Amino acid sequence: MLLKAEGIKKDYIRQRAGTNVFCAVQPLDFELTPGQLTEIHGRSGSGKSTLLNMLAGLLQPTAGRVLMGETDLYALADGPLSRFRNAHIGVIPQGQSGLHSLTVLENVLLPSQLFGGGARPEEALALLEAVGIAHLANEKPSELSGGEMRRMAIARALMMKPEALLADEPTGDLDDENTEAVLKLLKRTAEGGAAVLLVTHEAEAEKYADAVYRMDAGTLSREK
Ligand code: ADP
Ligand code: MG
Repeated sequence: MLLKAEGIKKDYIRQRAGTNVFCAVQPLDFELTPGQLTEIHGRSGSGKSTLLNMLAGLLQPTAGRVLMGETDLYALADGPLSRFRNAHIGVIPQGQSGLHSLTVLENVLLPSQLFGGGARPEEALALLEAVGIAHLANEKPSELSGGEMRRMAIARALMMKPEALLADEPTGDLDDENTEAVLKLLKRTAEGGAAVLLVTHEAEAEKYADAVYRMDAGTLSREK
């Protein structure tokens, strides 16, 4: 299924400047190709996370539509949208994520257990193996380094074999070695058929990308 945005834009109301409307993402069309790694880079504050969250079904655009296949995400009510996202879209959010009361394995298992699904521990363990942290399966996220936590978030995002994987600066706090490992994993995910979006500052990422865009003050332009 193709993930596609038509004329989406996002306005925020900025309280600190009175009730000014601030346009974080200018109206744009965008499409993620299955089997490809698409990269978006740009300065901090240029609207990258806002765009990614709108594509993920997590942030309602001020105007426009986000379609996955035939499904108009924001035409769905909250419950069906959550269910649809869980089944089809994997998100690696910016910053730390993960429930600290659960173990690493339980965090990765969580998406499979939502909406009445059964736990699939073998699959979760295989994913932890693939990201190189199977030995930490029974630790709590608070015991992990930044790089390990990031890999846990990737494993969790891959648990449902999403057709679209959206990663928001997934190498933000990683050293070179971990950065390389994460980029390769995202590339392999794309090669496996998923549409992968990578938002990053990492210059290194460009060599893995099939398509490259730059975001500047809410406007997207294609570079490759
Ligand atoms: P990036 O990910 O490229 O750093 P963001 O999408 O996070 O950019 O933010 C784009 C702009 O929108 C920034 O100027 C930011 O301050 C503003 N912004 C983001 N979220 C909100 C919000 N909830 N309310 C008001 N302004 C916001
Ligand atoms: Mg951001």
